[in-house]
Amino acid sequence: MFNVSDLKLDGRALIDGKRVQGAAVFSKASPVDGRVLCEVTRGGEVEIDLAVTAARAAFEDARWRGLPPAQRKRVLVQFSDLLLAHADELALTETLDMGKPVRYARSVDVNSAANCIRWYGEAVDKVYDEIAPTGKSSLALITREPVGVVGVIVPWNYPMIMAAWKIAPALAAGNSIVLKPSEKSPLTALRLAELALEAGIPPGVFNVVPGFGQEAGEPLALHMDVDCIAFTGSTKVGKRIHVMAGLSNLKRAWTELGGKSPNIVFADCPDLDRAVEAAVGSVFFNQGESCNAPSRLLVEASIKDKFLEKALALVPRYAPANPLDPATIMGALVDKTQMDTVLGYIAAGQSEGAKLIAGGAQVMGDTGGFYVEPTIFDGVTNRMRIAQEEIFGPVLSVLSFTDAAEAVRMANDSIYGLQAAVWTSDINKAHGVARALKAGTVHVNQYDEDDITVPFGGVKQSGVGRDKSLHAFDKYTELKTTWIRI
Ligand code: NAD
Repeated sequence: MFNVSDLKLDGRALIDGKRVQGAAVFSKASPVDGRVLCEVTRGGEVEIDLAVTAARAAFEDARWRGLPPAQRKRVLVQFSDLLLAHADELALTETLDMGKPVRYARSVDVNSAANCIRWYGEAVDKVYDEIAPTGKSSLALITREPVGVVGVIVPWNYPMIMAAWKIAPALAAGNSIVLKPSEKSPLTALRLAELALEAGIPPGVFNVVPGFGQEAGEPLALHMDVDCIAFTGSTKVGKRIHVMAGLSNLKRAWTELGGKSPNIVFADCPDLDRAVEAAVGSVFFNQGESCNAPSRLLVEASIKDKFLEKALALVPRYAPANPLDPATIMGALVDKTQMDTVLGYIAAGQSEGAKLIAGGAQVMGDTGGFYVEPTIFDGVTNRMRIAQEEIFGPVLSVLSFTDAAEAVRMANDSIYGLQAAVWTSDINKAHGVARALKAGTVHVNQYDEDDITVPFGGVKQSGVGRDKSLHAFDKYTELKTTWIRI
């Protein structure tokens, strides 16, 4: 059994296959108890440039992209196996770094990241190129080529999974990578890059430079020798990413951004208990720090009281506790800034006239960590900030409606369009509402289904492009046409 005392945390950048201290460092504290975990490289322009140079060299000499697909597959499968072999270590690191319960870090984060890497690895030697049906005597080959050097910038809420969703298809397609993890949770990304090396991914192909957004993220997004930037994070920064991509070398920019997902429950919901479990469980999962959290609950007015009575009965289950305890299902928020943001939204909800019916306060302050009670607001209207803005914490805003048209209008009245759900036993209503909802994913009579085989991403200001599934290859490959006269 792997214990916290066995961890050897190393926060140095990993560039060209070697650990690099960099010119500056910062102290990374744990949200679990506020204690400093280790010093981490505070990457800047110099470290980013070193990493991009290494990635470019690796791409140009084809030490990775030049391998036969079956060989890249073997290495990626080995990389996935190494994640599983180090699952306890990675899960503990993730929990200490970002505060999520270790049971989920182990069962969800490590497993999903490993599965993602394996899935793209196994796909590599099953993707065919095309010949266009021109009818001419010349052949028109349409081939997919890796884009080159891919810059990856990820957030702190699912550090390993967010990284895996991008590095796995990008590596499988033969690209080289410079990954900048969030300054709030950089440690597992660094470990992933070490395991990639151990698996046989050549030095320089997968580089990691930790650091802050403006200091390390901007030089990466602006770099003239980066061909593609794949970003997951807030809508505010995502917009800047597109601007930087355009102002520099017109690099391809893909953004997976924020959400304020509506969960619509009609009075003819087929299983109210299941709907309540899903509404509460999904919004409080990962302390509410999920882009696709169903943070707006739209309930048909005639069942709202019954629904909330059942929801309130479940709330004690989500009381925050030490995330290192395997029994814990609600851990710590990532840092004090995030906790203050969440508490600020709770105060805003109260001052705007919403009714606080559960939670609302910081707890476990004596631990030195950052814990907030699972919180529910009733009587929310769509113009309130807690209905419009992404809180990214354990806060559920409850609104009510009287018919499908009103539900759809309210659901779509948002700058975001990541996910949505509709609960009804009327198949026509389910289909009609699902079609009318502006969202990248719509769930019907459930909320939690997910699979690597399906695309994930949003419409409107929830971003541009899709992670996961074979469609993700579109982001990391360029189509090339070759006319061959025969
Ligand atoms: P953030 O936008 O503050 O930061 C994300 C990353 O961008 C971090 O690595 C950060 O250092 C970097 N960054 C910050 N400023 C930058 C700049 N000027 N230039 C370049 N890089 C910069 O987001 P966050 O607080 O880390 O994460 C939470 C957000 O991520 C939420 O909005 C959430 O919805 C979103 N998210 C979206 C998805 C999705 O798939 N759609 C998944 C997870 C999280």
